[in-house]
Amino acid sequence: MVLKIGVIGTGAIGQDHIRRITHSLTGAEIVAVTDVNKEQAYTVVERENLNAKVYENGHDVIEADEVDAVIVTSWGPTHEEFVLASIAAGKPVFCEKPLATTAEGCKKIVDAEIAHGKPLVQVGFMRRYDKSYRQLKKVVDAGKVGDPLMVHCAHRAPSAPGFSGDMALTDAFVHEIDVLRWLLNDDYVSAQVILPRNTRLADKGLQDPHIVLLETKQGIRIDTEIFVNCQYGYDIQCQVVGETGTANLPEPSSVTIRSETKLSTDILVDWKDRFIDSYDVELQEWINSTMKGEMNGPSAWDGYVVAVTADACVKAKETGGIVPIEMPERPAFYDKLDAFIKA
Ligand code: NAP
Repeated sequence: MVLKIGVIGTGAIGQDHIRRITHSLTGAEIVAVTDVNKEQAYTVVERENLNAKVYENGHDVIEADEVDAVIVTSWGPTHEEFVLASIAAGKPVFCEKPLATTAEGCKKIVDAEIAHGKPLVQVGFMRRYDKSYRQLKKVVDAGKVGDPLMVHCAHRAPSAPGFSGDMALTDAFVHEIDVLRWLLNDDYVSAQVILPRNTRLADKGLQDPHIVLLETKQGIRIDTEIFVNCQYGYDIQCQVVGETGTANLPEPSSVTIRSETKLSTDILVDWKDRFIDSYDVELQEWINSTMKGEMNGPSAWDGYVVAVTADACVKAKETGGIVPIEMPERPAFYDKLDAFIKA
């Protein structure tokens, strides 16, 4: 038995997921695709040698009889509509972030999933599947540095083509928002954003860098530098400071060279290289659990929490103040999926 997948959106990440499902992973095949750019969809089908039909639109993919499960990799503002339609059709759906572009949109998805009665939605927060983050979580969960007190993070990218407005917070920092609450088994209570001197190397009118301060329910303080025009590379840092020690996210492995009076090692430049293995693990685990009728990755609730937290960060940036992060109680529906939040 293979899982028959329909893909909505054959842009950059859609093509990447189609390639990995078709050529690297096991247990699934792409049987349907669509994109507003139909020609691109046909090109992908031909290039990857897929036995897949190109449909007129996302709704036709979702409703197609041969489609068991849906992957949504279209433009962010379309995600809510396609995820809601997948739930209505009773089909498991893997949606790239964002789950929806507003917290209200995410909440609608949560409510629809609960009303359906069976978990169907997974959100593409792939850092939870990254080997180095999993190693760090193992150390923290085992108490090797005592109870976490502080976390220092950096999210740096060489440049941010296409970034505008608050995308450093709503498009880049969202990955930290998700992975840090997973790492710490905790939830957020407040956000503050500090704006350092602006780099001259960002697009005109774009603030860069940002420092975001988050506080968790347990009182852990997290500071994250988000610097998306840092020039030198794609560099993700995370250090947990506990009562008895510190634990750092491992650096991506790379040869160290001693030569010509220098000790050097390469720095990655492309985010795809940093997380390429995580996407493989993420989708393989999604295929495996979907085949078993389970859903145990980042849930619709997690997508909602990220949206509420990102909104609080944007408000904190605008007001310069400390903004409370207020969430309704997590519905019991999600307890069995995502049992990491301590009471
Ligand atoms: P992209 O290259 O622009 O691809 C999006 C594709 O969806 C485009 O081909 C676009 O067509 C198409 N599209 C737009 N509206 C559609 C609709 N109604 N029906 C069908 N197709 C539609 O963008 P991308 O980089 O692949 O990103 C796609 C999504 O994945 C974004 O939400 C992004 O945030 C997310 N993403 C997540 C990660 C991660 O690390 N988890 C990484 C990359 C991207 P046109 O170009 O003709 O508009």
